[in-house]
Amino acid sequence: MLWFDTEDYVLPASDDAALRLCQFLTDEGIRATFKLVGEKARVLEKRRRQDVIAALQKHEIGYHSNFHSVHPTPAEFLSGQGWEDGVVEFERRERRGLDDVERITGQKPSCYGQPGSSWGPQQFGALRKLGVPVYLDAGSHVSLRGAPFWYGGILNLYALKNTLRTRLGGPQDLEEARKEFVKAYDTLLAEGGGPVSIYYHPYEFVHRQFWDGVNFAKGANPARSEWKVPPQKSPQETRIAYQTFERYIRFIKSHPKVQFITASEALELYRDKARGRWFSAHEVRTIAMGVKKGIAYQTFSGISLSASEQLSILNQFVLAGITGKALDGVRLRETPDGPTLSAPEHGDVSTPRSQFEWTVSDVADYLARHRRVPNLVWLGSVFVSPESYLGTLARDALLLTDEKPLPQVVVFKPMELLASAHVQEDNPKLWGWVIFPPAFSAPQMMQLAKRQAWTLKPALLAGSRTTALRHCAIRLSQNLMNCFFGVKSITRSN
Ligand SMILES: [Zn+2]
Repeated sequence: MLWFDTEDYVLPASDDAALRLCQFLTDEGIRATFKLVGEKARVLEKRRRQDVIAALQKHEIGYHSNFHSVHPTPAEFLSGQGWEDGVVEFERRERRGLDDVERITGQKPSCYGQPGSSWGPQQFGALRKLGVPVYLDAGSHVSLRGAPFWYGGILNLYALKNTLRTRLGGPQDLEEARKEFVKAYDTLLAEGGGPVSIYYHPYEFVHRQFWDGVNFAKGANPARSEWKVPPQKSPQETRIAYQTFERYIRFIKSHPKVQFITASEALELYRDKARGRWFSAHEVRTIAMGVKKGIAYQTFSGISLSASEQLSILNQFVLAGITGKALDGVRLRETPDGPTLSAPEHGDVSTPRSQFEWTVSDVADYLARHRRVPNLVWLGSVFVSPESYLGTLARDALLLTDEKPLPQVVVFKPMELLASAHVQEDNPKLWGWVIFPPAFSAPQMMQLAKRQAWTLKPALLAGSRTTALRHCAIRLSQNLMNCFFGVKSITRSN
């Protein structure tokens, strides 16, 4: 994946840089993803750079915020917001830029990625509303072992292990980058394939200094009339920069198994197979067994399920059981969002079966209405955390699939969301972008991000050898488990 954050609306030379990069790649038969800033698209229109717009149109267009570094940037305005108000605020501030990029390029942006490290969890709720299905960027707020993942119902090509590039200073830089690429290529081939993410900014080829650093650093927000242009590279430096980049791309292209893909092509390759899928009673049993071990994502049969999806499936199944409906399986419609607050810690809680059944029905209504996991699950006047509730649901689902009697007193044990370990605690490194006001932090927002780990799961590459092998191993262990647990029907191999 080759992508360009196309953002500098101050220095006109960066328009020409974008043009040259687009033309080079088109000549090489490569489609890249150009994530445009709203103001950059408007400036291209104002400067009558139809040539640049036409060259960009031959590639895939993404979105990179409305004003990039003008304050408040996304993490700044999201940091004091909760979930719903944050989603609405991101949409309010960012829809205009997205619409302008679409109007000017004639393409609906396929992906979004934040300016600098200005990230916030609420943007995922907003991106779904804006119809942007992929998150493409480099960063570390959420990561899943350096591989693509789903978070907030969006495909995240983020915090990828193989995020590579060459510095643009000539043969020595190129040599280092070639070696690094070959290493990644060999490792990925042995794993059955996977992504390499390479990104640049057109301005890097012409600027000596960041275009935004000279204007908006450390929270500064000068008037437009005071915006300064950054110092430029010499013609010789610019020539070497292009040459180094072009040789790097041609080198990568010369590898027989390399395919350049855009954000939307990645979405095809990693398409989620869980949403909309029917889960048989046998598969519901597998999911319930997985929950017993801990609340995290699960993968089996070539699909992955987030904790919130497991909750949706198990709640539907147990509801069918207690209302006397057929227990042949359930359909997963969507990925519910995570809770918006952390539940207070609690010990073991028990409740009569009649109260539990009332609560299962209430949670089903909550999921349908709010499309997210409740912050607290009420059992009359006491509550349990949604994690604890999911643990109990799994035990009940197992009793139902095994046709065992259901207990009259239902017990809830404390459980924790293991998946939240993939989301970072608030720390200064997350906000190291020079544009942030000094000492910027967002502890409340990162807690909210951890609650959204209910939606986290790996994005599996369709048809890769790793997926197939893992699939085989899991099927074998399931069949062995079936022997031990005396389940009559064995999954049919296909
Ligand atoms: Zn940027």
